[in-house]
Amino acid sequence: MIIAVDGPLASGKGTIARALAAHFDLPYLDTGSLYRATGVAVLDAGIDPTDAAACARAARTLDLTGIDETRIRTAEAGAMASRVAALPAVRKALYELQRDFATQPGGAILDGRDIGTVICPDADVKLYITAATETRARRRWSELAARGETITYEDMLAQTRERDLRDAERADAPMRPAEDATLLDTSSLSIDAAVTDAVAIVEKRQKA
Ligand code: C5P
Repeated sequence: MIIAVDGPLASGKGTIARALAAHFDLPYLDTGSLYRATGVAVLDAGIDPTDAAACARAARTLDLTGIDETRIRTAEAGAMASRVAALPAVRKALYELQRDFATQPGGAILDGRDIGTVICPDADVKLYITAATETRARRRWSELAARGETITYEDMLAQTRERDLRDAERADAPMRPAEDATLLDTSSLSIDAAVTDAVAIVEKRQKA
């Protein structure tokens, strides 16, 4: 069984995908971490983020075992991830890795922006997780504040809007729900309620 979980920043897709992976005992890949790690590599090497060939090289040569989990979760890494993710050469460089993970025997669960549309158009279950922009900005702001990042809620809201726009309007693999995706709005749901709904959606799809 392949499960695709897509959605914008702080929609709850990561939490839901991880919970589904545990529930259905499937390996899980957070594909955003690949773009974030590429963003960090570009920052660290002083690569011009408009130099597609150099950014793609950074993506191709990522040291997946050496990803700094704290560093890739910063607002700076997220913003650079979304810039390099708009480059078709970077997306191409990361395609095979994601596809191989998805098609491993026994199935897998992946979350991102284009899993249901580009990486796994053949997924057995596709979920698209959403939430109101203000709710998502507040969630991410609280997470970053808890980690000691100094960013105001207003700046976080502006960054969320900017990131949504860039992810949804890029020409290659824009963020959007697949036609056969089930939408889940988590704006007024607790984490437990959102996970319960997601499990029910998967089970219903499995039966169908
Ligand atoms: O999901 P997360 O916020 O970690 O992703 C960071 C950025 O990576 C996104 O804003 C998006 O630009 C990019 N991304 C993508 N396709 C994916 C996963 C993430 O373009 N499958």
